[in-house]
Amino acid sequence: MHPYDYDLFVIGGGSGGVRAARISAGHGARVGLCEESRLGGTCVIRGCVPKKLMVFASQFSEAFEDAAGYGWSVGEARFDWPALVAAKEKEITRLEGVYGRLLEGAGVTVHEGRGRLIDAHTVEVGERRFTAKTILVAVGGRPTKLDIPGAELGIISDDAFDLPEQPKELLIVGGGYIAVEFAGIFNGLGTKVTVAYRRDRILRGFDEDVRRVVDAGMRERGVDIRTQVCPARLDRADDGRIEVTFTDDSTARYDQVFFATGRSPYVGDLGLEAAGVTLGRGGRIEVDDDSRTSVENIFAVGDVTDRIQLTPVALAEGHAFADTQYGGMPRQASHDNVPSAVFSQPPAASVGLAEHEARERCEALDVYRSEFTPMRYTLAGRGEKALMKLLVDRDSDRVLGLHVVGPDAGEIVQGFAVAVRAGLTKADFDRTIGIHPTSAEELVTMRVPVDPAT
Ligand code: FAD
Repeated sequence: MHPYDYDLFVIGGGSGGVRAARISAGHGARVGLCEESRLGGTCVIRGCVPKKLMVFASQFSEAFEDAAGYGWSVGEARFDWPALVAAKEKEITRLEGVYGRLLEGAGVTVHEGRGRLIDAHTVEVGERRFTAKTILVAVGGRPTKLDIPGAELGIISDDAFDLPEQPKELLIVGGGYIAVEFAGIFNGLGTKVTVAYRRDRILRGFDEDVRRVVDAGMRERGVDIRTQVCPARLDRADDGRIEVTFTDDSTARYDQVFFATGRSPYVGDLGLEAAGVTLGRGGRIEVDDDSRTSVENIFAVGDVTDRIQLTPVALAEGHAFADTQYGGMPRQASHDNVPSAVFSQPPAASVGLAEHEARERCEALDVYRSEFTPMRYTLAGRGEKALMKLLVDRDSDRVLGLHVVGPDAGEIVQGFAVAVRAGLTKADFDRTIGIHPTSAEELVTMRVPVDPAT
């Protein structure tokens, strides 16, 4: 007889929860999991996947425009928003099924419904209660809106994927990666997009050159970026649109107002207090390097711990938890040199430190920077610039940061991330022969620092 219903009970069937449940079951644990919405979580249902599909959809307008420079004449192009929403829905439903089958195949028992901790070993899902030796909280985060009058008239990223109609004019509030990605999506699909951001430049925290080049590229493509301003109130106008009064007292009307103003851990009414779990800044669950909370048998992974809010990080944390607890292979997920991309238009990607971070960490920094018009834009007559940037510690010669803005940035940086993670030096980069003609060859051919170390 087992003293508990399960060895492990996982609350949340998103990236981190599904990975942890599947691998733990593979190691022989008896695993239960509850999900209140759809298996796959934010990434599959209302994040990375549908977003990237919409980025692809939005890029056709640029391709049609640029085709003329290459001798093509393209007939009148029309875009059908409901057709895209339906196609996207079909694909995420397929992926949701894949997740369900993966869990079933691994022997995980899935319970539909919202889970709530009753005590450190008991989870309530609807009318039922399950006991488990170990509990893993993987509930992710939730978008937040500004706390202003009329905020209920605005939408969040969850809603943006399934709007019944494509807005003709859209205000996006915020300047983080989700704001700039959706600005590119809707702009490419033909919506007139305004971004309102209370700070001085989009993508706070990213390398300054990345921020500057993405900002310029977005403006060149027609996105109206307004900085140091944000909505103070929203009202429903007589024509059914939304009237926005900004903090500088200006007003404007939009079909939709989209709050991309951050995400917070989804910990409300989860019973964490009942179980004795300590929360930290902004409501995140505090964990140690093994993802263990303040309660010995309760663990947490993914966005709810607010370490780095990215799917591959949630997957790595969930996998390390499972290997450590059930696989006899103790290990911790690494949060260093995590590469990331912004699927804005133009896209950006980075690994390692931004210049302001690198300057704080090393005494002498060499900055290598190249800005140029990518070859594919030449015949198209597009003036937009790409950026390649390397940050090198002069003493050790190690590449501390690598940044790309331009076509295929994410694909390029994924490969170079191995080199940066491995601690390779600028001399290693210089010894590597470029692939010609590509944009990425710049990263192995930059010889003179533009900003020599001081
Ligand atoms: P989630 O994936 O959010 O999963 C949590 C799950 O728990 C959800 O299914 C939820 O329904 C369920 N749940 C919550 N509470 C309960 C409860 N009490 N009981 C039962 N179930 C519950 N990351 C990238 O790496 N690349 C990207 O391009 C990218 N794009 C993004 C775009 C958008 C618009 C958004 C919002 C996010 C994006 N992310 C991206 C971030 C990524 O989606 C998250 O980092 C990742 O999903 C975190 O995984 P998780 O397991 O922590 O949580």
